[in-house]
Amino acid sequence: MTRPQEFLVLDDRFKTCIKPTAHVEKLYEGTRWAEGTVYIPAMRSLIWSDIPNDRLLRWDETSGVTGVFRSPAGHPNGNTIDRQGRLVTCEHSGRRVSRTEHDGTITTIADRYQGKRLNSPNDVVVKSDNSVWFTDPPYGIISDYEGIQGESELGVNHVFRVDPVIGEVRSVTTALDRPNGLAFSPDERRLYISDTGSGPTRGQMLVFDVNDDGTLSGGDLFAKCDAGVFDGFRVDTAGRIWASAQDGVHCFDPDGTLLGKVLVPEVVANVAFGGPRRNRLFMAGTTSLYAVFLPVNGDKLV
Ligand code: MG
Repeated sequence: MTRPQEFLVLDDRFKTCIKPTAHVEKLYEGTRWAEGTVYIPAMRSLIWSDIPNDRLLRWDETSGVTGVFRSPAGHPNGNTIDRQGRLVTCEHSGRRVSRTEHDGTITTIADRYQGKRLNSPNDVVVKSDNSVWFTDPPYGIISDYEGIQGESELGVNHVFRVDPVIGEVRSVTTALDRPNGLAFSPDERRLYISDTGSGPTRGQMLVFDVNDDGTLSGGDLFAKCDAGVFDGFRVDTAGRIWASAQDGVHCFDPDGTLLGKVLVPEVVANVAFGGPRRNRLFMAGTTSLYAVFLPVNGDKLV
């Protein structure tokens, strides 16, 4: 059987990041717009979002079976796991970031900024100090497809940080037109953010310096997408960035070099490292969930 090309090596360094005999597998088919992949070690499961169908799905690693984890689910988008192992979810129609507690109840982490409702939180990451960082573009309020159509009360698309002690929501940047995916470098000194808007930084990933007081500085171009735009992405233990794109997943060295690609036959909107060793890359590919084993490991529980 002839397989389609699954890996594109653009820099020799990428050869140490892939196993040519480890193929891209389709684990599930049946979503309308897949997003928000996150691996939950305690559940041996991959949770991800099917935004238009207003549900969170769960793929069980032990059985290979997929079921509905939660529906309705506030038209969920990005998911992550916090340092206590709890699921954190961006909700479009909920216009909030929520946390699923260990007893199953759902708590609001953030739903307003300076008294105004959020737009539609898109992607989220939790830093090791327990602060919650998320992007807030308007995709969930533009139409009824990915949420509930509504007005932007803020009128601006922020990236926010939620203080881990007092829960205060602070804006850390408005430099991006439509901020989308975000991830910290392994040492948490850098924060990468992608822009899927129509402004001058469309299709770019910017890199910011993270200051000790929780503010950002800088905001330089890190990489420009050569196939569609970057949506969600994750970082491995060596600091490489694995970013979703129109033709699959693009892998960047921390120096900004595009090392290579994992080619996927659908538009990929997000990725997550998972499995007990965090060496399996799960990819949310529009209608399907894909995965590939890699000889690299994902960084932390993000
Ligand atoms: Mg996104």
